[in-house]
Amino acid sequence: MPLCFEITDLPPEIITHILSFLSHRDLTNVCLSCKMFRDVALQDCIWQQRCREDFNFTNNEGWNASYKDVYAKVLHRFGQTVGLWQAEMSHYGALVHVQFDEGRIIGRQCMAPVAPHVSDALRVKTLFTIQFTQDQEDVEIFCHKGFSDPHKGCLEWKEDGSLLFRCTEVEHHQHPEGKQRTICSVFNKSKLLLMKFLVTTQLGCNYRMSRLARSPRRSPAVIQPGFFKGTYGGHGIEIIQLKYDANGKIVQGIKITGDPNVPATKISFEVDLSQPIILTSEQQGTVALIEQIDIPELPPDTDIQRLPPQAFIVPDDCIDRFQNAPRTCRARFHAKGQIAGHGFSDPSFTVGHWVVFDENMFGFLWLKLRSFSVYSRVLEDLWS
Ligand SMILES: [Zn+2]
Repeated sequence: MPLCFEITDLPPEIITHILSFLSHRDLTNVCLSCKMFRDVALQDCIWQQRCREDFNFTNNEGWNASYKDVYAKVLHRFGQTVGLWQAEMSHYGALVHVQFDEGRIIGRQCMAPVAPHVSDALRVKTLFTIQFTQDQEDVEIFCHKGFSDPHKGCLEWKEDGSLLFRCTEVEHHQHPEGKQRTICSVFNKSKLLLMKFLVTTQLGCNYRMSRLARSPRRSPAVIQPGFFKGTYGGHGIEIIQLKYDANGKIVQGIKITGDPNVPATKISFEVDLSQPIILTSEQQGTVALIEQIDIPELPPDTDIQRLPPQAFIVPDDCIDRFQNAPRTCRARFHAKGQIAGHGFSDPSFTVGHWVVFDENMFGFLWLKLRSFSVYSRVLEDLWS
């Protein structure tokens, strides 16, 4: 005789184990099917697993709520905000890092260090928080921009997967007259930097955020991809993402933060790795000299991983001279850098050299601009 039994005859711990494999949607449906399933499906250990697997949320300390409530009321709506985003803030843009914090989700703006300290850590400022309302029944969002205490804001998912932040109490962004004067005096020397400060840290009540994708490690690579802080003359330090194309032949520096000339999201420079060059110290005395000499082309099959270290000096006629550039570099390539007028008018690419010093540092020699930019790797782990 065939053995026949109902699934409800199974011991509760086995049913719990089976339900732990169900998705959030299926668990919700199971709850509606019968009381016994409902009792099992509401066990917090099942939701703890869903929190971990769906959102990498592993600790509900500080939330004063069960995993089920955190999942149903917070993560289900806003769990996908965790990660790295590029925010549209005028032409400046912003790098936004969203993480779980104790009892809230926190979005922080990661700003480049103050020029010329390109190897300093990123400066971090809270932009928004997502947390339970006092009665734990709903979620509220706070805007932390402006000059006063956190105030109400909202987050909205757009169809293309981007996220729109909107401050709903914008009066908090109006700064008292006295404070504005203080700020202006701090930035007395540079109106460019004052505008950047005001727009990125105080003004800008609404901003759209697009998710940033991690560039996979390459092996071998003359330098690994990632985020870098680079010097951009009077615009201060900006953040770029160094990326390789699918074949590993082209490297691009994409602006995560930008300026009124070449804004965020635009290409700052592009390098064709099939064009390595070697220069002696004597050939680098001035940009004028570099432009005059006929730089010998290396054979097309040159293994750029095995290039010998070569001399490097910042030419004497460079306007922006980074003082502490290393005296040798790992590799050097023909490259092109993007320039434009105010408001990204008449953009064009101009010739330059991409100079890789080591795993965490490279430079870009803008030949026509007589300028040398230095880029230092962002060492903070922004992907965790
Ligand atoms: Zn606000």
